[in-house]
Amino acid sequence: MLSRLVAVNTLTKNKIKIITKECIYLEKEIIMCGIIGYVTKEKTKTVIPILLDGLKKLEYRGYDSAGVAFLNENKVDIIKESGPIVNLEKSLNKEIESNIGIGHTRWATHGKATKENSHPHRCGKMTIVHNGIIENYLQLKDFLQKENYSFISDTDTEVAAALIDYLYEESGNVLDALNDFIKKAKGAYAIAIICDDFHDRLFVIKKASPLIIGVNENENFIASDVPAILDKTNKYIILEDKDYAEIYADKINVYRDKKKIKYKINDFKGDKLLIDKQGYEHFMLKEIHEQPDIIKNLIDRYLKKEFILPDITKYQKIIVVGCGSAYHAGLIGKYLIEKNLNIEVSCEIASEFRYKKLFLDKDSLVIAISQSGETADTLAAVKISKACKAHTLGIVNVKESSIAREVDDVIYTEAGTEIAVATTKAYSAQVLMFILLSLEKNVSKIKKLKSLPLLMQKLINQVDDYKRIASYIQEKEHLFFIGRLIDYAVAMEGSLKLKEISYIHSEAYASGELKHGTISLIEKGTPVVALVSDKSIAEKTLSNIKEVKARDANVVLIVSEESNLISDCYDYKIVLPSILEEAYPLLMIIPLQLISYEVAKLRKCSIDKPKNLAKSVTVE
Ligand code: GLU
Repeated sequence: MLSRLVAVNTLTKNKIKIITKECIYLEKEIIMCGIIGYVTKEKTKTVIPILLDGLKKLEYRGYDSAGVAFLNENKVDIIKESGPIVNLEKSLNKEIESNIGIGHTRWATHGKATKENSHPHRCGKMTIVHNGIIENYLQLKDFLQKENYSFISDTDTEVAAALIDYLYEESGNVLDALNDFIKKAKGAYAIAIICDDFHDRLFVIKKASPLIIGVNENENFIASDVPAILDKTNKYIILEDKDYAEIYADKINVYRDKKKIKYKINDFKGDKLLIDKQGYEHFMLKEIHEQPDIIKNLIDRYLKKEFILPDITKYQKIIVVGCGSAYHAGLIGKYLIEKNLNIEVSCEIASEFRYKKLFLDKDSLVIAISQSGETADTLAAVKISKACKAHTLGIVNVKESSIAREVDDVIYTEAGTEIAVATTKAYSAQVLMFILLSLEKNVSKIKKLKSLPLLMQKLINQVDDYKRIASYIQEKEHLFFIGRLIDYAVAMEGSLKLKEISYIHSEAYASGELKHGTISLIEKGTPVVALVSDKSIAEKTLSNIKEVKARDANVVLIVSEESNLISDCYDYKIVLPSILEEAYPLLMIIPLQLISYEVAKLRKCSIDKPKNLAKSVTVE
């Protein structure tokens, strides 16, 4: 495993040899739902505030509902509320003394985001919180109902609670019950448990969903991610799949398949500030502003050979797989690799790829892109590709994530923790990696990228332009983005950004395709955002812009200086400064991100945590 971690450093023959460094767990697995747990020796009033604080730090992972369970005078109390954590906070009495508690912020998969369905769930002697999906919950529910268990929620989690209780009743031993649970429950789960019979410890089980144990003197923690515990301790244990553990205030025992295992206590050395808004109104805005630095850092490090990229020219076939924005970054990669390296590339949506007929062999390269490195469909695509003997390369942001560990070679995008659900900086770093891969050590061209960060910054600063365009767009119901070739790929990302955070419907079209049907939707005042970076096809796109203009659309033109269309065919115009042509997608995306941001702000949307979404998608 270690041979594939972290910065790609030296190249030996065909294999990339890696220098490893301490993993920064803060960047690991950003996934739906947050779990927190706390156990201390003596009863104290700090239990509820610690749970609440941890949940607030994890709220970016799920925000449908939230709840806590804690020991109160020797019995387990459960308080939960639908909606954001503030709703829960209002219902909690922070004066209660306790020594043990668990908490959860939910991203509903099974059952609506109601109070009944929110966690913790209780069955028999078990009170649990759960992140993930129990895939065979219906069969289990059926079985448990026959064993006289009844259910009040629609969740798979309540079934998990009942199964653990049933297995405990059978064996009389919680640890054995947890081991049996792993054998019986299919799917993904990180589960924290308070058992009525043990008031001095928490139990946990982990498979596929993330879980760490925070370690401190006479108090220990459980969390889905390190940020939730950093105010209390920087020492933590990473649980592996199928591990289960009992956590006392002063002792932690971790087991795998009935054997006690040794665990490593890691020391968090990362930057806590990464999870702070640092004065920005939203994480998304902060992350947009971080892009020039991230890109600069990556270009500098690449030029200094602090990391090198694999040679992708030796493959006969390249397939790029990803979901959402990562797929759009892959589309840009397709255009760049085909143009510069003369290799045909197909770009596939991972959720389709994993179920379709594949034509892969040892001469194929599958490039899997994922910010979190946990995207279930992309991970499955990697596993299937490996089974077909294809070589796999991951472009991943989160170190040591599942995809990073699964692929043959990994490129880390080093964009830092991304908190806003709608990706900006991680997407840009993915695009940069494709630019670098396609320029294939052409140092003179790569040096031309050095002006890119400054030009990105210049575009970021044009706030007034974006505000003006946003105030025009904000009341529209539908929008079109058009572009050709690489601009079409960027148009798709621009359209997704707007949909994600402003809830305005939009579609991206290849400019030439509009007239084959969709142009029927263009009417007076329909906004069309037209992207033109490539001067060789600028005239063609101009014709398409004229077509929509002739039907009274309003055009927001984003155009490169070089292909600057001498025309009056726009209502708003943003000009992109000159840069190496491969780099235009990274300039073009800035106005699109910021226009979406300003529109969402005007519409008072929940920008960092848009409705129905989660940061990364660990379900199929
Ligand atoms: N599947 C569980 C539910 O729907 C857990 C979801 C989560 O990970 O938040 O309640």
